Amino acid sequence: MYRLSRLLIMFVLTYPCVQVWGEGVSDLRGALAKQGKYHISIAVKAVEQQTNVPITVVTGSEPGPTLLILAGIHGSEYAPILASQKFGRALSPSALTGSVIIVHVANLPAYLGRTVYTSPADGLNLNRLFPGDGQGSLSQRVAHLITSQLYPLADAVLDVHSGDGNEDLRPYWTGYYAQVGDADLVRRSEALAFAFGFQHVVPFQWKLTNVADAIWAGSAAIALGIPAIDVEAGGMGVIEDEAVAMLVEGFHRSLSNLGMISNQFDPPTNQRIIYARQSVKSPQDGSWVSLKAAGELVVAGELLGYVTDWHGKTVFEARAPSDGLLMLRLSAPPVLKGETLVVVAKTRSKR
Ligand SMILES: [Zn+2]
Repeated sequence: MYRLSRLLIMFVLTYPCVQVWGEGVSDLRGALAKQGKYHISIAVKAVEQQTNVPITVVTGSEPGPTLLILAGIHGSEYAPILASQKFGRALSPSALTGSVIIVHVANLPAYLGRTVYTSPADGLNLNRLFPGDGQGSLSQRVAHLITSQLYPLADAVLDVHSGDGNEDLRPYWTGYYAQVGDADLVRRSEALAFAFGFQHVVPFQWKLTNVADAIWAGSAAIALGIPAIDVEAGGMGVIEDEAVAMLVEGFHRSLSNLGMISNQFDPPTNQRIIYARQSVKSPQDGSWVSLKAAGELVVAGELLGYVTDWHGKTVFEARAPSDGLLMLRLSAPPVLKGETLVVVAKTRSKR
């Protein structure tokens, strides 16, 4: 026992990074003040419910911007969660200017509950609850924590998703709000979206009339004047090494773009803009049978799949609304009335 504790002390004394296990937001602020790597867990409590938000903070030797990476807003989107862990473990404080705050699993109840879209704690979709409510349900309080405690520390936000456990998503893409905020904010978000390095970028055309309409994590950051992008890679509840690797590289490219690391990357080539997206929704509850994979080119009118009733009779045919790229499809049978079955995209070269 004595030997073991001595070994532990030796390990702590000789470990190259400061490791802190804390529970409060004060730990987070402390972590931004001094070079090191910190593992922090912030408790979120609601009435008779509790969760934790696991965070790694890496603070460099020189002051600089703070990049916030959000993973696991949706608990069954695994590539972002794994990529955030891999990135956090590998990132060295000594190579960094500024700080990176990495939220590894924002929605731990959904992750552990293996649910898509919503949290089993309250049945709500965390990415529809921003800016959140500090007196609300568990998910509303997690959104409130992110908006009120993490966003004020951030100079840029990456909200990282994949296709959910029942969604096939190809190609992988980044998106930014092209119609929200002043020109400088749009320009900085756009620059981040392209710098991440994925081949496809979506300029979101949504407009916000007031801050309360910013129900998505990314738009809530934008509403506060913080450059933010959405990132989408992976899906269908599987671990895809390619998606994880692309995300880790994208995180490093983002650091380079913000001047936080000295590494230079070759600029991405052949980037394309997804300028239109059309979805087909199910007219009723039923079973979805998909005939195509995400990433395939389709032609207008082509049969992409169909919905059956509970006895297997076809009740709806989903046909491509235009020529284009099938960028998202439901990959599992259960479908509710009004849910998106497929999304077809139109793309053009960036230039
Ligand atoms: Zn998501």
